[in-house]
Amino acid sequence: MRKIFTMLNFETSVKTEQEQKPESWTGEAIFNKENEVLPIADVAKAEGEVKKEQSKIQNWKRAVCLSLTLLAAGNVAGQAIEARAAEAGKTTQIELRASEDRRAAIEQKVADLRNQLEQESLKKKMVYLESVYGDAMKNFLFAIRSNALTLEYFSSAENDNVKAGLADELSQNHDYFWDKKEIVKRAELKRQALKISGFEQLGGFNNESVKQTALEILPPAFINNEDEINYNPTEKKALTFPVAGEANIVGITGMLAGDKHIVTVYKYESIENNPDEMRHVLAHEIGHHNDPQESNRLTMAERVDFAVDITERLLDPERPHSSYVDEVTPGEYQAHKWSKNEVQWRRARELWAESVEKYVVGPAKFWEESPKEAQLVEDWMAKISGMQTEK
Ligand SMILES: [Zn+2]
Repeated sequence: MRKIFTMLNFETSVKTEQEQKPESWTGEAIFNKENEVLPIADVAKAEGEVKKEQSKIQNWKRAVCLSLTLLAAGNVAGQAIEARAAEAGKTTQIELRASEDRRAAIEQKVADLRNQLEQESLKKKMVYLESVYGDAMKNFLFAIRSNALTLEYFSSAENDNVKAGLADELSQNHDYFWDKKEIVKRAELKRQALKISGFEQLGGFNNESVKQTALEILPPAFINNEDEINYNPTEKKALTFPVAGEANIVGITGMLAGDKHIVTVYKYESIENNPDEMRHVLAHEIGHHNDPQESNRLTMAERVDFAVDITERLLDPERPHSSYVDEVTPGEYQAHKWSKNEVQWRRARELWAESVEKYVVGPAKFWEESPKEAQLVEDWMAKISGMQTEK
């Protein structure tokens, strides 16, 4: 918890430059219209602050600022977890990191983080993603860039206190973003009752039956990353198509801050008394919350791998045509005059959600018509669920 205070103190000292929202977040605002994006203000501020202060703040301070911002997000999540655990009558442990015998562990984590960050394959994949999606990758790759920057200044820091501080930050970032065991442990701690509401207003369903459907069609790890599923008894339309359901976007850092994943099902004609249609909507929207950006169980390296795998499917000229991915989604972006990079990233994420939907609802047909997309879902569903894969 102390990191939050450290960050706030640091922010106070550069407060004058913080008010303006940074340019880089205007891209995310695109999704705001459809999906209620709730970016973490602190991250946005820090990013903008770093840009503005680039020439003023010493480099190591920039690194610390980025790193602390990410950790602050994590600490908020930690507090939420503790609160929930306390409610359940369990005790929680707070690790004290300062003691000497922690030093070796910290060094080990920094070494592992360095090893992962310096992988040529990771760097190549990041370059590839940026070549396809450009600035739409900025938020997705933010933690990696920030960790790399911190590591750079850790390596060149000469002051012992600065170096020790940076090592501490890096080791914690290692656990939050790069250590599979720690990440899964955090996801499991988050496990809570899924809140379902509103479905008694929809003919043929009630909250319990919708919950059962979700649990039947998708792995527990997918459902674990869902906080709420709500029915909204109004019709909703995007500019170019009617909306059946919506999955909000919280982003990688938003998840650490404890932002909720919420799926909304809207009223539309064919869903009433139609369990098959309900399976389609739930699989698609919950699929969105288990993609490279929104999954709560992946390391940064895995997120990048996952995004690359989807991108290869998206760009494969042999891929079976999808009207939603290839026409409706680009059409909506064109109608709004939204960014081309953003539409590509959105198409990739729709391809994933649609593939999950088809895999879950009609696996035999999907394997026959779209074997590579079916394989993509099988591989990543297994990885997200913590099962072994032989890819
Ligand atoms: Zn979708």
